[in-house]
Amino acid sequence: MLWHNPRSAWHDLRPELSELPYDSGAETDRLVEAWREGRTGYPLVDAGMRQLLEEGWMHNRVRMITASFLTKDLHVWWPVGAQHFLDHLIDGDIASNNHGWQWVAGTGTDASPYFRVFNPVTQGRKFDPDGDYVRRWVPELRHLAGAAAHEPWKHDNGYDDDYPERIVDHDDERKETLARYERARG
Ligand SMILES: Cc1cc2nc3c(=O)[nH]c(=O)nc-3n(C[C@H](O)[C@H](O)[C@H](O)COP(=O)(O)OP(=O)(O)OC[C@H]3O[C@@H](n4cnc5c(N)ncnc54)[C@H](O)[C@@H]3O)c2cc1C
Repeated sequence: MLWHNPRSAWHDLRPELSELPYDSGAETDRLVEAWREGRTGYPLVDAGMRQLLEEGWMHNRVRMITASFLTKDLHVWWPVGAQHFLDHLIDGDIASNNHGWQWVAGTGTDASPYFRVFNPVTQGRKFDPDGDYVRRWVPELRHLAGAAAHEPWKHDNGYDDDYPERIVDHDDERKETLARYERARG
């Protein structure tokens, strides 16, 4: 795909979403920095982003979830995330990475539909049911047993070890993403 469409390395392959607005500016930079550092307040996202910084690797499932969070919860254009992944991944590959990002963002080959927004909590409960992956990479949540590690906000002692509060409300941002998508489709 990249051979036949070299521009798709850093630009949307498919034009359908070219009208989709993305966020930028100081506040967005602050949110993107929290994402890069694994301090979004969403345990599975933070576990994946911290694994990337520490090991230079992240499981495919979590790559999809963290990429969805940046593009659809923070409304940031996918190349911003693709560059961060390439800066850290030991298996960093421009074709697999940038088209992996376009798959998540809905702008690439047989991409997941744009309106598919990964829910970091339900994904966590499904693929890390005991919370072991989260506790491995997010020490501030090690005092929460089992699946409680996925929802510290539901527990009185959830923030006892200074885990950050959620930087956005996932349900609100999902609705915002779907509204932008509808407007962009005109
Ligand atoms: C946002 C995002 C970014 C990604 N960035 C990269 C990247 O920079 N480099 C990279 O090699 N893969 C990338 N992938 C694909 C996939 O996540 C990795 O190939 C896989 O996680 C690597 O782990 P593994 O070697 O244990 O894979 P295994 O599950 O053991 O698979 C074996 C090999 O198959 C290939 N492979 C597996 N899944 C995919 C896939 N979805 N797309 C393409 N090839 C695949 C890889 O070469 C992998 O080494 C990305 C996926 C997403 C969603």
